[in-house]
Amino acid sequence: MTESQPPTIAEELRGAGLRVTAARAALLLTVREGDHLGVEAIAAGVRERVGHISLQAVYDALDALSAVGLIRRIEPAGSPARFEGRVGDNHHHVVCRSCGTVTDVDCAVGEAPCLTASDDHGYAIDEAEVVYWGLCPACSATGTTSASTS
Ligand SMILES: [Zn+2]
Ligand SMILES: [Zn+2]
Repeated sequence: MTESQPPTIAEELRGAGLRVTAARAALLLTVREGDHLGVEAIAAGVRERVGHISLQAVYDALDALSAVGLIRRIEPAGSPARFEGRVGDNHHHVVCRSCGTVTDVDCAVGEAPCLTASDDHGYAIDEAEVVYWGLCPACSATGTTSASTS
């Protein structure tokens, strides 16, 4: 093992204080390889890797990994939660109103500037969430709206 070697998934889990299980490792890989996946898609990815796992176990693992910051939960208003492996850089998301596609948007101003609220009301703020809404290129090209889907 050399120092330049990136940590393995198991080492990352252990480093975050989590017990290493095949399901958690598979879930972390699935979320990182995916693109803002929902819970059902994540469950399918985990099952491909380790066989059957209950949806409840997937939720539990998602909670555990989100709590230690290995993955990030995004919950655009009105849509189911998505999860991503890109964490700790305060990037934002643009969400398509029609098809629900979620895309990363780098923060316009820098590292974590949106944490500077005009009035923090005495709170110790550690996260700010910016979600841009609109139509993705595919949806605007076809003129699809949520009203026209059956
Ligand atoms: Zn779209
Ligand atoms: Zn993202």
